[in-house]
Amino acid sequence: MDSDNSCANEEPSLSSNSSLFLIEEQVSLKKYHTFALPAFARYFCAIPSEPALFSLLENPSFKLLPRVFIGEGSNTLFLRDFPGVVVKIEIKGLQVVSEDGRYVYLKVSAGENWHQVVEYTLSRNWFGLENLSLIPGTAGAAPIQNIGAYGVELKDVLTELSAIDVKTGQAVLFSRQECHFAYRDSRFKKEPGRYVITSITLKLTKVPEMHLDYSGIKEELHRRDLSDPTPRQLSHVICDIRRNKLPDPSILANAGSFFKNPILSAFEYQSLREKFPDIKSHKMNDNAYKIHAAWLIESCGFKGKKIHNIGVYEKQALVLTNNGKASGAQLKEAVEEIVDAVENKFLISLESEPVMY
Ligand code: FAD
Ligand code: NAP
Repeated sequence: MDSDNSCANEEPSLSSNSSLFLIEEQVSLKKYHTFALPAFARYFCAIPSEPALFSLLENPSFKLLPRVFIGEGSNTLFLRDFPGVVVKIEIKGLQVVSEDGRYVYLKVSAGENWHQVVEYTLSRNWFGLENLSLIPGTAGAAPIQNIGAYGVELKDVLTELSAIDVKTGQAVLFSRQECHFAYRDSRFKKEPGRYVITSITLKLTKVPEMHLDYSGIKEELHRRDLSDPTPRQLSHVICDIRRNKLPDPSILANAGSFFKNPILSAFEYQSLREKFPDIKSHKMNDNAYKIHAAWLIESCGFKGKKIHNIGVYEKQALVLTNNGKASGAQLKEAVEEIVDAVENKFLISLESEPVMY
């Protein structure tokens, strides 16, 4: 949550000074985040264009209120009512910026649905996004945690992004290096609310460069007798694996992986392995091991369990679900129970992945 407001008693009220967008009051946030908790926003507005965004940012009352920018809410949780403005970025557009014999540079506006972008690129025979198929959410949110799946991350394809600095109201351009991408992390995740991303630019290839090494993919390709899949076939395989393993948020509310995979040093990892020889992990480099958070949670007996109205998904213990009746307080309690159990057994502090308000 971000606000320039130092005097909470002033209670600024917001009304639209522009015909470019509408401000609504007391809006239920249930349908605006995939975990679907019962919470209300004091103000809500959907922003369809950059001029509308500039106009909102210039509104004097807006500057005084707490605010949060969202896409499709698949990595955001509203545990309680939001006392300020929830701004949903819906800016649309796809534009080829340049191309040559090998590459296409595609500029994607922040409000485009990510999977539709993947589908669009595949339909034009532009490659690079196959492994990121079916990740929910918008293009504008993708850089926030450097979305990743099946061995590919956004940072592998993003060249630059455009944003507006909320503090100054100025447009800014960030190169890939300036985004400080890391494992499910970026400078934007560390400085929430400072920048609104308006578009991202992707470097796609005209000749496929396939990433098939990730566990699960090879086995599934083999099962389907696809030794040399096309990018479209790879995308289908990944969509099918995901549909089989993850709950569809439109049917069972969830926010994807609830916890990050903890990264341990080689020393920490070796000491843990002495105690738990069957621990599941991946070596990232000589001094970093990624521990499977799902295995830690499963080993504490939570897989398939219910804690009040929160479920630990039976096919993937990293995913928490809401049976439709959960409150923010119940989710908080369930998260604490899981984190405490993992901490007590493994001395590892699990970190939540979604952003919580
Ligand atoms: P939101 O939840 O709306 O926002 C997420 C964060 O980004 C918030 O902090 C918000 O303030 C900020 N934000 C949103 N838009 C903007 C903008 N334009 N400018 C500035 N800040 C902004 N993630 C992965 O990395 N890999 C996966 O494989 C994956 N699988 C998932 C599967 C399921 C079933 C679900 C529910 C989630 C999954 N996720 C995954 C998490 C989620 O899909 C991604 O984090 C996605 O990028 C979130 O997009 P969103 O538009 O829903 O973002
Ligand atoms: P999975 O394939 O069962 O793998 C379990 C864990 O092992 C993952 O966390 C993954 O790390 C790691 N892993 C597997 N093979 C690896 C390899 N070859 N190299 C390095 N690490 C490897 O995981 P899953 O739950 O079904 O998810 C599949 C992919 O989709 C993963 O990449 C996962 O991150 C992504 N996903 C993310 C979310 C989310 O909300 N963030 C939700 C669903 C799926 P990584 O997570 O680092 O890949």
